[in-house]
Amino acid sequence: MNDTPQIKDLIGFPQDIVITSHRNPDGDAIGSTLALAAFLRKMNHTVQVILPSEYPDVYGFLKGIDDILIYDLEPAKSDEYIKNAKLTFCLDFNSLERIDKVGMSIKESNAKIVMIDHHMDPEPFYDHGISTPAASSTCEMVYIFMKDIGKDDMVDREIGEALMTGILTDTGSFKHNTNQNTYQIAGQLKAKGVDDYYLQDKIFNSMTEKQLRLLGHCLNNRMELIPKHKTGIIFLNKHDYEVFDIQRGDSEGIVNYLLMVKHIDVAIFVRQQPKIIKMSFRSKGDISVQALARDHFKGGGHKNASGGHAYGSLNKVLDKIKSVIPDYIPPLN
Ligand code: 5GP
Ligand code: MN
Repeated sequence: MNDTPQIKDLIGFPQDIVITSHRNPDGDAIGSTLALAAFLRKMNHTVQVILPSEYPDVYGFLKGIDDILIYDLEPAKSDEYIKNAKLTFCLDFNSLERIDKVGMSIKESNAKIVMIDHHMDPEPFYDHGISTPAASSTCEMVYIFMKDIGKDDMVDREIGEALMTGILTDTGSFKHNTNQNTYQIAGQLKAKGVDDYYLQDKIFNSMTEKQLRLLGHCLNNRMELIPKHKTGIIFLNKHDYEVFDIQRGDSEGIVNYLLMVKHIDVAIFVRQQPKIIKMSFRSKGDISVQALARDHFKGGGHKNASGGHAYGSLNKVLDKIKSVIPDYIPPLN
């Protein structure tokens, strides 16, 4: 689905615009919203970015990030912007459930809703949308949109840095989910002055000592491999959260280590957070963790990268995961 012509018309004259993305925003959510915001401001729109919850510190270097409103921290002010907007862009998510309270405000507002997203199975909450599950990232899609409406010459270094951030983070530095466009766009952004080495260093070489020690703990004490089903599981319990004082973003990326093990094609990372048990799923090739997350853990995402959640005891959740794995990953003979 691609409503680029209709969306082009909607931004044809200056408007009050809100741009939002999903809870616990990642590099793609932050990069795509900041890039589109800067781009639309250059077109004389009045733009406010609103994110449901706080972003990881690591992205603090991106230009314009200090102007973002966090709904959890300033709900009344955020609601005012949402109410007055004529146009709301929803980037990098495809169901209002992913933005909880922000979603309810958006539903109540009269603004036209535009979705640009690369996740599977979009829900029809928008007026116009672009959905491209084959895209590496929403940042890739936003750049293609700018190009399709004939305005990629407006992409400057600042916009380019934001876009490259989402491409780098959603592809794990070009390790997965790439296509021809991904590399071409990266080249075009580099030609506009984007310093990819600087971005990689800022984003990926920024761990704290605590985060590195937590990673060591996960790999040494919390990892279980199930070779028969090519699956690896890492979990963190309540106690770990206290001992390591785990905060937002501290466990980012840990799930990927499981896929470095030879013959492991499915990685599952389970976190017993204060109110909820969160899961990250990653897979290689044809195995769809999206189906597993959707069918059993109220989640979804992409075929090879999904998330989900559950309530109750950690052990029960781990048992449930192990019991359903055989339905999605046939045993080795
Ligand atoms: P992560 O494991 O990095 O949190 O998320 C991986 C992917 O799954 C992301 O694309 C994210 O948007 C999606 N995802 C994570 N949690 C959920 C969830 O609770 N519901 C849905 N539908 N998607 C999720
Ligand atoms: Mn994304």
